[in-house]
Amino acid sequence: MLKIGLTGGIGSGKTTVAQVFEKLGVPVFYSDLEAKTCMQSDDVLIGQLKAIFGKGIYMDGVLQKSRLANIIFNDEKALKTINNLVHPAVQKSFEKWCANQDAYYVLKEAAIIFESGSEKGLDQVICVSAPDKIRMQRVMSRDAIKESQVLERMSQQWKQSRKIELAHFHIVNDEKQLLIPQVLEVHSLLLKQSVKIA
Ligand code: ATP
Repeated sequence: MLKIGLTGGIGSGKTTVAQVFEKLGVPVFYSDLEAKTCMQSDDVLIGQLKAIFGKGIYMDGVLQKSRLANIIFNDEKALKTINNLVHPAVQKSFEKWCANQDAYYVLKEAAIIFESGSEKGLDQVICVSAPDKIRMQRVMSRDAIKESQVLERMSQQWKQSRKIELAHFHIVNDEKQLLIPQVLEVHSLLLKQSVKIA
């Protein structure tokens, strides 16, 4: 079974594209969602986070997201520390999840794949892109946040061009080019590859 990464910058439309693959019957692992679950339920990870950032980031066992957001806001080092702790926990869940899948290939959707080096555990990577201006508008309206907040999040990720260069497939989600035919083409190529391997 092939393990395929699905990445792209904030607001590029990774989740939207992942949902199209799901409609085609492809199992999708949503890394960012899993990261949230791990931070709420993985006792080892919770202990590590409390040890570094203080017990106050959990109240009555519940992660205080706004406290954590304040800690990592404008602090690249803290963000890196959190990523380094959360990443192995998510990776462990992904491997467990993969063992229970029965498919030609599975997708791992994640905002940071190349940034975290997790492409090493994947067979290939799909990158979704969209013009920065469109991404900005999408995130501002989806999350009801200001332009500066989106810019801050964008600055914590690699530029799209760098990801596109490293990816094996590129899906353009610019609201001009049709999305579904692009997904169908990638799906068909991946099925052919996985059948060959099988
Ligand atoms: P994030 O990294 O923030 O999780 P993402 O890359 O997963 O973002 P989505 O959540 O899929 O992006 O898309 C961001 C917003 O843009 C969503 O509200 C989604 O509905 C919208 N969107 C995505 N693609 C399109 C499109 N082709 N046409 C219209 N709206 C779109």
